[in-house]
Amino acid sequence: MAALFVAGAVLAREPFDGDAAFARVEAQCSFGPRVPGTKGHAACLAWIQDEVRALGLVPEAHGFRAVAPATGDTLDLTNVLVRIAPEKSPRLLLGAHWDTRGWSDQETDPALRALPVLGANDGASGVAVLLGLAEQFVATPPPIGIDLVFFDMEDQGRAGHPREYCLGSQWMARNWPGTLPDFVLVLDMVGSPETDLGRDLYSLGAFPGWNRLLFDVAEGLGFTEFDRTRAYELFDDHIPFLEIGIPSAVIIGFDAPTWHTQRDVPASVSADRLGRVGEVVLEVVHGGYLGR
Ligand SMILES: [Zn+2]
Repeated sequence: MAALFVAGAVLAREPFDGDAAFARVEAQCSFGPRVPGTKGHAACLAWIQDEVRALGLVPEAHGFRAVAPATGDTLDLTNVLVRIAPEKSPRLLLGAHWDTRGWSDQETDPALRALPVLGANDGASGVAVLLGLAEQFVATPPPIGIDLVFFDMEDQGRAGHPREYCLGSQWMARNWPGTLPDFVLVLDMVGSPETDLGRDLYSLGAFPGWNRLLFDVAEGLGFTEFDRTRAYELFDDHIPFLEIGIPSAVIIGFDAPTWHTQRDVPASVSADRLGRVGEVVLEVVHGGYLGR
């Protein structure tokens, strides 16, 4: 086992594998856009569950139904929950959305605007890091419990209607099976090297300690792309859990220039960036910050 020198300590675990995460971004994008109701969406759901099973873990499919705000279509949707070390506490929910947006709002050309987003960064990057983390937790069991959640139907809301977004996480927060997690961390748009990673002001206001810890850990690792001065007000998959009182945060590079465009392709995502995000999460989990 390779030793990793981090912040003055030699860690008894492998560093996060950014190249493997990048390969998982490409794998998801090979299905095309993963817009709910399409073949690419169905193929990606099967792939996520196959990846989880290949690690010796059990994917729990939590199906739900929702109406797509933009089309009025009723859709069958699926959140995938994977429990790791279920006997341990506290429990940390690590989440990412796996659907991709059905149209490209940020394009100026109407023909391009009508096309679905491939979502290498906005969708695949968070899922890829989650699967890499699952692989790491199988190799080196975490000292705390982990609930991985792949959220469906995050990105099909109409602009200006925040409650139309995050339908999968809204459903999951209302219908959580068993004891709710103690902490929530969502990864979204974590692969673009063209922007730094910022933080969400709702989360910072409600749970400053949890939010601060993430950026303190990143700073301790010397990862300057975690920029605590960059902040947004974001309705992302962490909000439904924040609203029921669970310390919740999101790591996101919201200023990615590829956001909701046809340029959100694997070439716009960096294996190194994926690796650093994964490493921060590993350090949060293994570093003893969340013990009771
Ligand atoms: Zn999006």
